[in-house]
Amino acid sequence: FSDIFEGARLSARALLDYGENFFNPTIRLGVTGLSRAGKTVFITALVHGLSRGGRFPVFESLASGRIARAQLAPQPDDAVPRFSYEHHVNTLITERRWPSSTVDISELRLVIGYQRQNGLDQTLTLDIVDYPGEWLLDLPLLDKSYEQWSAESLALSRQQPRARLAHAWHDHLATLRPSAREDEQATLAAARLFTDYLRACRDERFAMSLLPPGRFLMPGNLAGSPALTFAPLDLPSGGIPIDGSLWTMMRRRYEAYKDLVVRPFFRDHFSRLDRQIVLVDTLAAFNSGPEALYDLEAALAGILDCYRVGRSTLLSTLLRPRIDRILFAATKADHLHHTSHDRLEAILRRIVERAASRAEVAGAAIDVVALAAVRATREAQVRCGREKLPSILGTPLAGEAANGETFDGNTEVATFPGDLPEDVKELFSGNGAFRGLSTSAMDQADFRFLRFRPPRLQNEGTGEPSLPHIRLDRALQFLIGDRLQ
Ligand code: GDP
Repeated sequence: FSDIFEGARLSARALLDYGENFFNPTIRLGVTGLSRAGKTVFITALVHGLSRGGRFPVFESLASGRIARAQLAPQPDDAVPRFSYEHHVNTLITERRWPSSTVDISELRLVIGYQRQNGLDQTLTLDIVDYPGEWLLDLPLLDKSYEQWSAESLALSRQQPRARLAHAWHDHLATLRPSAREDEQATLAAARLFTDYLRACRDERFAMSLLPPGRFLMPGNLAGSPALTFAPLDLPSGGIPIDGSLWTMMRRRYEAYKDLVVRPFFRDHFSRLDRQIVLVDTLAAFNSGPEALYDLEAALAGILDCYRVGRSTLLSTLLRPRIDRILFAATKADHLHHTSHDRLEAILRRIVERAASRAEVAGAAIDVVALAAVRATREAQVRCGREKLPSILGTPLAGEAANGETFDGNTEVATFPGDLPEDVKELFSGNGAFRGLSTSAMDQADFRFLRFRPPRLQNEGTGEPSLPHIRLDRALQFLIGDRLQ
């Protein structure tokens, strides 16, 4: 019955949305990606560019002058926090610091006034919904029992490099008997050690992606609640839990997590999206090695799988998300020379293709782009002996250090970014060809992980000064260009 009730609520909401969309054309654009993928920066740059006439040559409606204005309007959903655009834009542009990252869902409404191709004036409402990708990776849990999830999480944690990071949790796990009496302290300890393990996997050096339950890393307003206090157990296959046991307790909380966290997120947010951009810090995964890339692929397959959640049920047509375009974007492309942008895109495309072949995606157009929502670097040829090498120039953030030098936040340095491999197939052939970014022999300093300060606004020609970017306009064209015809 709860499924039928859920279906009815969903279809009522879908009808309301449909009615509103009929009179007032609206796109609900989901912006997601794992923590630090670049969501906050992306949304801030996108809204700034749209509302202040950014340099977007590939975004046809703006480039051709058909967009008359784009203005913020009151955020429509009373229960969702507003995306702090003004604060973020001030941090990014006035203070030239990166804004604070996404930790919860937030939303922003932008109303775009434009002239249609046939000359008529029209408006399009763009609702941008920012949410942690960690939450998206929870959706596949809806189809999994506690026992399945436990077995999968354990199997994954026994593979390298995860196994190295799981010692403390595994040691504790070995002391737990699933049939023992339920025990709050043991459960708290297990949840804490399991969360520590997940967090260690997320560390920059390992850059693992597939780490559900997402709220363990991004708790939002649920930190410390029982629905977040459980962990996998090493269960006998085919066994049956006894009432009052640790197993039953963990299983009950896992189900509570699905009911209180995952289903409401699916119903209230995910199922209402029309378009989706998934931001991926592909370079971070690339630099961490092949395991991180395979893990990323599994995570993207999990994400793509979300588009078929509910299809096997009676209410499939009602529950099916209506997303018709998904863009996967490799962020922070400004850390590479432009000669490598296409290669970065090719790497992500390959990962997405492999993930798509594992998942069943229905009815959505998928594309891939490598972008920098805010371009913090410039390019230059730097003389090195007799050679001139293509390099990037940027101002490392105050406190960043490389090769014994600590930067003050005002000094520009030239770095020779590593090259990405030309042949992406090699990366996945498993023949050990994978070495991470190959750096030039001339480049003694390892600047690869340096974080640069945001740039100054660029003042070109007579237009308003704008933020430099890489391919942000291509992303916009794919995501909303067709609705501005
Ligand atoms: P979120 O957790 O997905 O919201 O990630 P943020 O948008 O806060 O980005 C995390 C960090 O990545 C920022 O603080 C920046 O250091 C870096 N970053 C994000 N986007 C860009 C970009 O376009 N260029 C550069 N150079 N760095 C970026």
